[in-house]
Amino acid sequence: MVSAVVIGAGIGGIAAAARLARAGYQVTVLEKGSHPGGRVAVIEKDGYRFDTGPTLFLMPEVFAETFAALGERMEDYLDLVRLDPTYRVHFHDDSTLDLTSDMHRMRAQLDRMEPGSFESFARFVAEGYRHYHISLDRFVGRNFYSLLEFFSPANLPLLFKLKALIKHSANTARYFRDPRLRAAFSFQNMYLGLSPYDAPATFSLLQYTELVDGVWFPRGGLYKVIEALVGIAEGHGVRFRYDTPVAQIEVAGARASGVRLADGRRIAADVVIANADLPYVYSDLLPDDGSARKLAGKKYTSSALMFYWGVRGERSPELLHHNVFLADHRYKESFDRIFRDLSLPDEPSFYVNAPARTDPSFAPPDGDALMVLVPAGHLDERRPQDWLALRDRARETVINRLEALGVKDLANRIVVEETMGPLEYRRALNLAKGAAFGLSHNFAQIGYLRPHNRHPRYRNLYFAGASTHPGTGLPIVLLSAKLTVERILKEQDVPQGVTVPVGGHAMERA
Ligand SMILES: Cc1cc2nc3c(=O)[nH]c(=O)nc-3n(C[C@H](O)[C@H](O)[C@H](O)COP(=O)(O)OP(=O)(O)OC[C@H]3O[C@@H](n4cnc5c(N)ncnc54)[C@H](O)[C@@H]3O)c2cc1C
Repeated sequence: MVSAVVIGAGIGGIAAAARLARAGYQVTVLEKGSHPGGRVAVIEKDGYRFDTGPTLFLMPEVFAETFAALGERMEDYLDLVRLDPTYRVHFHDDSTLDLTSDMHRMRAQLDRMEPGSFESFARFVAEGYRHYHISLDRFVGRNFYSLLEFFSPANLPLLFKLKALIKHSANTARYFRDPRLRAAFSFQNMYLGLSPYDAPATFSLLQYTELVDGVWFPRGGLYKVIEALVGIAEGHGVRFRYDTPVAQIEVAGARASGVRLADGRRIAADVVIANADLPYVYSDLLPDDGSARKLAGKKYTSSALMFYWGVRGERSPELLHHNVFLADHRYKESFDRIFRDLSLPDEPSFYVNAPARTDPSFAPPDGDALMVLVPAGHLDERRPQDWLALRDRARETVINRLEALGVKDLANRIVVEETMGPLEYRRALNLAKGAAFGLSHNFAQIGYLRPHNRHPRYRNLYFAGASTHPGTGLPIVLLSAKLTVERILKEQDVPQGVTVPVGGHAMERA
């Protein structure tokens, strides 16, 4: 039987392992942490529960495709609830916009903010529809094996049609005059850890998919997705080994022969898939050939200062399940502070997740569970930051703004508190530079221009995850797993012999 080792049990590693096992491989997943999921995790404390990472379940058809490819039906595993309004956007002048698929309500809200803007919105969403389908069919949902394929005569006009060379912020400005609306239809880039002043206008596909395909919530939380996929993978014979950090990928000539664990044991495999963050794999797990330095010079997404608050007392009616608080009129400067200065804006924008409104099991009956995400810069030794001080400042800003909104006496009602930030992302998950979403998605880092899902030299070493093709976000990482496995089955269908290096520990088989 052909064997594969997967380094990392993030959603990309789990999905790739399950697909390969279903195709007949003997698969072992090695995870440094004590549980699967990576960035998708849960904190449970004193009756409060928090999804630590993703909270927006977007592009449900991509999730459904993964379940179907594994011989299962998503609806047998996930109890999905559609959230509408998708979220409430709060502006600095205390006005709000509820993004909803109810078009009458959208029209009333938009035309109040900028007369005639509903028509612009309709055109904007129609453009997002084109971007979504062209991107998925022609760029995101397929492998590129050469630069010529990416810039082929058939693709070039599409790149223009997708506005891949126009910035999202500039494009939004063509549709809306009111700065609040420009912000409301561009901040979604932050889901991908990008500045709208850098992201391609292609990403108007996000607003389309949110409003048309919907923002969903799996009852019980996002971790239900991980539990479901791990169960299915195990059913196909995948072995998960936790608390098992990989220290090195062993290579011989043009092939990877297996991995060496931190405790010195070695595991041989015909195929190695690295789900751990790609720049980290090059810098820490592979022999130095100069690639790691080049990767370090690429653009990275933002990081995030995270707060998980168990709040005693009433569930504030001012908060919906998803809430976004946008910075003041210095919106552009706030992105410069994150992406240029790698710090925290003076007046940060932030996101609050309050899932107990949809699923009361997230908090005790007399309490509320709030997760707060404040985008901040990633780590860079040339721009060191006092992360503890920045965290305290972010905390104060959020509490003040929520109290001003009407969440009474919040500071004194927090009875459970956990935090995370760039240092933890680097330490706990090996995310390069503590960048919460991995490598960035500017034009020079997408499609064939993004680090490939197979190592250029070691021809049986593959990557699946947020920093390889196609990119970050749960559904996109599921596509990454799909594309990587498709490529493995195309390139490695003949079982290969493994060169077992001599010396050191004896080799186990994966
Ligand atoms: C705060 C936050 C909010 C987000 N919100 C959303 C959202 O709402 N919707 C959405 O779709 N996406 C969201 N994302 C993005 C999404 O979480 C990621 O794109 C996705 O989870 C990445 O999955 P992955 O498999 O690539 O990597 P990871 O989840 O990082 O998994 C990699 C795994 O590799 C393991 N590992 C690393 N090094 C080693 C080693 N040496 N040996 C063994 N194991 C190792 C790690 O422990 C980890 O478990 C969010 C991310 C964050 C951080």
